[in-house]
Amino acid sequence: MSSNNNIQPVTLTIAGFDPTSGAGITADIKTFATFNCYGLAVTTAITVQDTSKVYSYTPLKADIIKKQLEILSNDIKIDSIKIGMLASKEIVLVVVDFLKSYKPKHVVIDPVLYSTSGYLLLETEAKDLIIDSLFPLATLITPNLIEASLLAKKEVKNLSQAKVVAKKLYDSSKSAILIKGGHLTGSPVDLLYDGYIYKKFKAKRNIFSAHGTGCALSSAITANLACGDDLISSIEKAKDFITNSLKMSQTIGKGANLLDHFYRFKVS
Ligand code: PLP
Repeated sequence: MSSNNNIQPVTLTIAGFDPTSGAGITADIKTFATFNCYGLAVTTAITVQDTSKVYSYTPLKADIIKKQLEILSNDIKIDSIKIGMLASKEIVLVVVDFLKSYKPKHVVIDPVLYSTSGYLLLETEAKDLIIDSLFPLATLITPNLIEASLLAKKEVKNLSQAKVVAKKLYDSSKSAILIKGGHLTGSPVDLLYDGYIYKKFKAKRNIFSAHGTGCALSSAITANLACGDDLISSIEKAKDFITNSLKMSQTIGKGANLLDHFYRFKVS
């Protein structure tokens, strides 16, 4: 029974849990909310981390994830899905099967391999499975420079190398690729290749660094797609959100700043 016909777009994150809420499912849910989407979350792994680093993680049983996805998607119409940390090969297989049967309109994959602090967040054996089986099911894949280089097995240090790698990843998946340029020297240009055109998204380098910007970007794009924006304006709005939530980020712990996902609601 519904008491309200103004139903929000529904977005789902399939990702890990970060107790600082800087990254992972709780950061994704905050991002979905700020873009006026109703967020659902299926957790893949529980991480132990603070604002300085990741100490360990435990993947959840793939069967639990499979059951949650089945039951949730039978109950609720999901408009778009963001995929983050997948942790294990078994979990990748479950997510691939789910996407093949549910056929969501939009799937944004943030191929999380390592944390910013350098901790491995995906079983090494799962990487090829992600490339071969998961990437072809995506609307957009959002690796950072390091991930793009590891996934394409090619060095990426500058924009012209990023173009080659974006095309290589597109050719094997036929999914649009957005390479995040935060690690580029000079201005942090993100590069999109959709099989037809390259498009650069420029932003000024922020003086703050925070962890979880990759999670926030991919979940913001997911939310914008669910709201009906096209891919390019979804990315533009998401980049603007990252710039501002970084600008308003807070030094809550002893390590990296934490994004203010809700900066828009601050009254000055
Ligand atoms: N997803 C989860 C659950 C994480 O815990 C982390 C990092 O610790 C990430 C994603 C990656 O975030 P970042 O690259 O900002 O460290």
